[in-house]
Amino acid sequence: MSGSTIIPWVVGNWKMNPLQANAQQLIQDLKQYFTQEQISAQSCHIGVAPVSIALLNVRAQLCDTPIKTVAQDVSRIAGLGAYTGEVSAELLKDSGIQFVLVGHSERREIFADTAEIVKQKVQHALSAGLTVIYCVGESLEQRESGQAEQVVLQQICDIATVVQAEQWQKIVIAYEPIWAIGTGKTASPEDAQTMHAKIREGLSQITDQGKNIAILYGGSVKPENAVELAACPDINGALVGGASLNAESFYQIAQAFAKTQ
Ligand code: PEP
Repeated sequence: MSGSTIIPWVVGNWKMNPLQANAQQLIQDLKQYFTQEQISAQSCHIGVAPVSIALLNVRAQLCDTPIKTVAQDVSRIAGLGAYTGEVSAELLKDSGIQFVLVGHSERREIFADTAEIVKQKVQHALSAGLTVIYCVGESLEQRESGQAEQVVLQQICDIATVVQAEQWQKIVIAYEPIWAIGTGKTASPEDAQTMHAKIREGLSQITDQGKNIAILYGGSVKPENAVELAACPDINGALVGGASLNAESFYQIAQAFAKTQ
């Protein structure tokens, strides 16, 4: 028991995976794990983030499970209009999608989502009533040069001007050190907890909701390290990449966090 009143979140980021046939199998396996061995909504929020073309299908197939469907990204443009290739927050909401990842390091690094773009995405997602899982994290270079804390706290401050007081309850933070994503390297539970405590301190200076905001850890989370991470007081869940493509691993990670409640 962590003693925290925050319900943890375990969210699987499928990234640009998998092909249809494998997705069908994954969904069937998830249904089996999460309906046969229930994790109650009071002990853990569970979500999966498929590619955008699969959002509606996945949502329909998981509607009788506790698993929420999460979009991996949203347009920086609000509303409707002549923006080829874009999916706005309004369109997500209109399709019944209530959750979205924003600011994932792959979006920031590969697709040049700047702090300004990320801020616009957060603003529009919140205005449409979506819950935002806002990703922050430092590069290896930034960590080695002693800038990790400053970089991460700046990323938190970046969105402070667009999140209104009552909207903080729709924000979940995911701390994902970039050097730990998809590399098999995990931050030690101590290092992760230290950063999470700093993030909580930073959030508490911005909003009186700071103590209630879930802060997830992401970066090579797997069943083997989930229990130790889940035991840290300020780690309120996980954003899981690779291991979320296997239903059993994902279920075990969710169980590790649910058991802290
Ligand atoms: C991620 O993509 O958010 C992630 C943490 O990936 P992985 O678990 O594979 O490191």
